[in-house]
Amino acid sequence: MASTSIETVDVRAVNKKENRSLYKKREKIQPKKATGTFRRLKWIIMGITLAIYYITPWIRWDRGVGAPDQAVLVDLDHGRFYFFFIEIWPQEVYYITGILILAALALFLVTSLFGRAWCGYSCPQTVWTDLFIFVERIVEGDRNARLKLDKAPMSFSKFYKRFVKHSIWLIIGLLTGGAWVFYFADAPSLLADLVTGEAKTIAYSSVAVLTATTYVFGGLMREQVCTYMCPWPRIQGAMVDEETITVTYHGARGEPRGPHKKNDPWEGRGHCIDCNQCVAVCPMGIDIRDGAQLECITCALCIDACDSVMDKIDLPRGLISYDTHEGQFDKTPGKKLKVRFIRPRTIAYGILLTVVGLIMLFTLLNRSVLDVNVIRDRNPLFVKLSDGQIRNGYTVKILNKIHENRRFHVTVEGLENASAWLQVEGPRKPEMIVPVPADALSSVKLFISAPEKGLEKGSTDIAIVVKDLVSGEVEIQETSFKGPK
Ligand code: SF4
Ligand code: SF4
Repeated sequence: MASTSIETVDVRAVNKKENRSLYKKREKIQPKKATGTFRRLKWIIMGITLAIYYITPWIRWDRGVGAPDQAVLVDLDHGRFYFFFIEIWPQEVYYITGILILAALALFLVTSLFGRAWCGYSCPQTVWTDLFIFVERIVEGDRNARLKLDKAPMSFSKFYKRFVKHSIWLIIGLLTGGAWVFYFADAPSLLADLVTGEAKTIAYSSVAVLTATTYVFGGLMREQVCTYMCPWPRIQGAMVDEETITVTYHGARGEPRGPHKKNDPWEGRGHCIDCNQCVAVCPMGIDIRDGAQLECITCALCIDACDSVMDKIDLPRGLISYDTHEGQFDKTPGKKLKVRFIRPRTIAYGILLTVVGLIMLFTLLNRSVLDVNVIRDRNPLFVKLSDGQIRNGYTVKILNKIHENRRFHVTVEGLENASAWLQVEGPRKPEMIVPVPADALSSVKLFISAPEKGLEKGSTDIAIVVKDLVSGEVEIQETSFKGPK
């Protein structure tokens, strides 16, 4: 029988010998300044999002005496989340889940309509990277000046520009990290503590970590965060379809491309003059003429760049534009964008968004400010008293979610000839009243006794009724009363 031998090759050794790497070295991207409609839109969105981020912790909201007056606050010490008039307790964490589901559905809907609009305009990575590039441009000049500076040997001027740029980046990082911690404590007091060195170590370490991550992600890594670290570019493919509008190069109109001299005819050639302006402004360093790419964040700066070129050569705008997959095959110059907003996919996301939104709204409007929890003693299940009665013990926890002291009346329903008494911090009290301080939880022992006769079933369903003596708000908890069979 003939034998075969397989020759093995050590790929790593071959690569090393031929000085090849499995990983492509990063080419630094120096985007050129763009001007136009989408650049202006990006400036506006950047201004709004940064203002919201930096100003929000300083907005005050009166909640009454003893309650924090910060409009948006994650109060970790007391386990509360405050958002203007909404106050969420740890037991109500489902509201946070609801908000996250709403945000995810809204993102799905926007993505199915406009592609990666979130990535291109309002993702924090995009906003801060844009801000860092703006600083870089102010300090080192536009693309050509920066490319020249990159290649130039170190000199006093280069060192000075680099020093100023990195210093401003670090200050922005510090302000970003600083603003973040203000969401977790009273902002004016925390600022005073941070400045005087009296803040907790966790506050300083959080500011340090966020300063470093903002500086590294926004200043140094930039587009690599979107391309390699963020999962969204891979996921969003499932939300787009042929009718989603996205940044598109109209190859049917642009090709065959090539340089064009003034007065040269346009017949027999495309409208792309291969000027590379669309590539020069791209913060991701890609060429949109190569088609849809994972790296493209649909920031639309290439649209602005190409529209400026079209204006100069007196051709209709829109060689690169927002369009659908179908639209890119339409050769008509300056054609109107046709979008079908109502599609099965957008209807499904819209319905889900409305349903979840309405459920959230309903639960928020009908939110109870009283929470009662009853836990029956299990050891022993019951006690037989000297007078022959059977007694069960319960722990009743009453949560008062408003910023006023309240008094509650406790009664028992469903057990004939029963008597009950409460043990509120020590001695037995005849009246069934539980005082609960503002914004606090009170825990009391409740004892119920009943004649053994009538407890033949072994277990009887009962209800503990807790009623606010002033507002009349009632909370009923069902439990059981155990006796010998
Ligand atoms: S900016 Fe427009 S004309 Fe210039 S290379 Fe890009 S697509 Fe072609
Ligand atoms: S290709 Fe155009 S839309 Fe995509 S990232 Fe680059 S500039 Fe932005």
